[in-house]
Amino acid sequence: MLKILRRGFHRGKSDVDVIVIGGGHAGCESAAASARCGSKTILITHNKNTIGEMSCNPSFGGIGKGHLIREVDALDGLCARICDKSAITYQALNRAQGPAVLGLRAQIDRKLYKKHMQNEIASTKNLEVVEGEVAELIVKEEKVVGIRLKNNTIISTKCVVITTGTFLRGRIYQGTDSWEAGRIGEQSSNELSESFGKLGFELGRLRTGTPPRLMRNTIDFSKFDVVPPDQTPIPFSFLTKNVWLPVEKQLPTYLGHTNEETCRIGIENMHENLQVSTETISPRYCPSLELKLKRFPKLTHRLFLEHEGLDSDHIYPQGMSMTFKPEVQKQLLRTIPGLEKVEFFQPGYGVQYDFVNPKQLRKTLETRKIEGIFLAGQINGTTGYEEAAAQGVIAGINAAARSQSEKPITISRTEGYIGVLIDDLTSLGTNEPYRMLTSRAECRLHLRPDNADIRLTEKGKQCNAISDERWNEFSSMKSRLDEVTNISENMEMSLSKWKRILPELVTKNDAKVLSAFELIHRFDLNLNDLKNAEIFDKNVEEDVFERLKIEGRYRMDHERMKNKREEIDRESATEIPDSIDYSKMRGMSLECIEKLESAKPRNLAAATRISGITPEAVIILLRHLKSPQ
Ligand code: FAD
Repeated sequence: MLKILRRGFHRGKSDVDVIVIGGGHAGCESAAASARCGSKTILITHNKNTIGEMSCNPSFGGIGKGHLIREVDALDGLCARICDKSAITYQALNRAQGPAVLGLRAQIDRKLYKKHMQNEIASTKNLEVVEGEVAELIVKEEKVVGIRLKNNTIISTKCVVITTGTFLRGRIYQGTDSWEAGRIGEQSSNELSESFGKLGFELGRLRTGTPPRLMRNTIDFSKFDVVPPDQTPIPFSFLTKNVWLPVEKQLPTYLGHTNEETCRIGIENMHENLQVSTETISPRYCPSLELKLKRFPKLTHRLFLEHEGLDSDHIYPQGMSMTFKPEVQKQLLRTIPGLEKVEFFQPGYGVQYDFVNPKQLRKTLETRKIEGIFLAGQINGTTGYEEAAAQGVIAGINAAARSQSEKPITISRTEGYIGVLIDDLTSLGTNEPYRMLTSRAECRLHLRPDNADIRLTEKGKQCNAISDERWNEFSSMKSRLDEVTNISENMEMSLSKWKRILPELVTKNDAKVLSAFELIHRFDLNLNDLKNAEIFDKNVEEDVFERLKIEGRYRMDHERMKNKREEIDRESATEIPDSIDYSKMRGMSLECIEKLESAKPRNLAAATRISGITPEAVIILLRHLKSPQ
């Protein structure tokens, strides 16, 4: 136990460098990053046993989210490595769409994840965990100097990172019942929310929800379609060579559908649902069943049954987040073939909570108002473990930097999805739970999961956030990659000459000069082709070649995208008439139409600043404005 805890406050030397409040996904990454950077750190959380808890689905990754996990890993964060120690089903999304939009995803064993995360936190040097509830932030002359726990213990510090998730004035909703809680069975954090109010921060309110958890032995899986694990699983971490669970031992997921009867019961019971009747805004990309039924009352909706662990009796019905009364939830699910006799471990529920308008933050995630206070995770209006972890690692590195008077780290939109996330939040704010999507990133052909380490690990090293083990591994890979890139870029000849060297693969006689780098992509050459033709040395490894090949595939497209961005910048003053009809623009998504219609931007620059408006949408708009009407 910490010896520094005491009652009463004194000014002078701080007890610790950094205090992190909250042991969720943002908090664990923040605390570990701050400690890695050499700051004496404590993590204060309600309950040590809930460190690393997955509040909702025990799965990590997905489209856009997988990119964030790789970037957290590139900064030596924890979640990718912990996922690789506890994943039970690897099922990457978008495999056919190419490496730029590949959505690394896996189902995780909930208990194993928590166990490994708690071990990792416990064994991190410079880091101590304290159980308790932080009730107040102590600020002197616009600088944070300490925190007060609910039991009136005071701890002085140079910096505080707040990662309290859905707990600030959290309130749970289930049918017509509602009570105070941050998650089911856990107390909400009311005093800390008041402390934010007193310090003059602007707060808003959002909501989210989670499905019921089902008892595995009450489900007839034979009535669902089996979705097997990937035959070649892709690990999350650059340090993981092989996944811990062989493919044949990984568990499948199951696909089913709702039907007319499910919809009827839902619609008839909509009036007895407090969460639905309140005004707060729910996640757009993870909608509740109620929201889906309201929008599409006649459609069938998909659900995936996913295991909560290798030896768990519980099943998570993805897509069935709902806040109806428990008996209605059961009645409704029992209409689905295979769930006729389903029983619950826990019914679904919704939670509404305060968040801090993230426009009050700098790109370092430090608040503009008070020096030394950093915010990360759901408290900033985001949703998802990956978004929380990504902010956590940045806030942790920067709190450590501030406490040691070192330079902070910031990531730009062209360097990483983390940069896109933080730039969107801090410059646009958000009025709905924000989740990462590949369409939010202008440079998504460059910001790929495969090159996250090349983009970010050196930057992390400059802040002392990278362990020696990772740095050695990374440096060795980078020098081998640089070597083959140099060879292939500098070896140039005409296609006719290439044909002589690779007669079975290059079939054209042509004077056009191509480098080996271009040739690999153009003719889809593999490593053996190049080794046999003695273009590459026998020692070049497959993983290094794979990186080179992916880079070649995207370089031209990346250039084209860059040109489009420059065109948007040049045309930013183009005015948008009031009479414009966005719904007539071919290729414009429904979401972008809705957002443009509601924001009514006056010119192209204003359109680009609307959260969720993609560069493609702006190009469609620009083409429309420039075309003869
Ligand atoms: P959390 O993981 O919530 O962790 C907060 C931590 O702070 C907890 O350890 C808590 O004990 C601690 N804490 C709070 N206040 C204090 C205090 N005053 N003092 C000390 N400790 C404190 N995400 C999705 O992507 N899709 C979904 O559909 C989805 N549904 C969800 C449904 C529910 C019901 C909930 C609760 C969350 C859901 N999420 C969903 C969100 C996802 O769980 C979060 O985005 C993610 O966990 C946020 O991480 P975090 O670190 O910000 O906060």
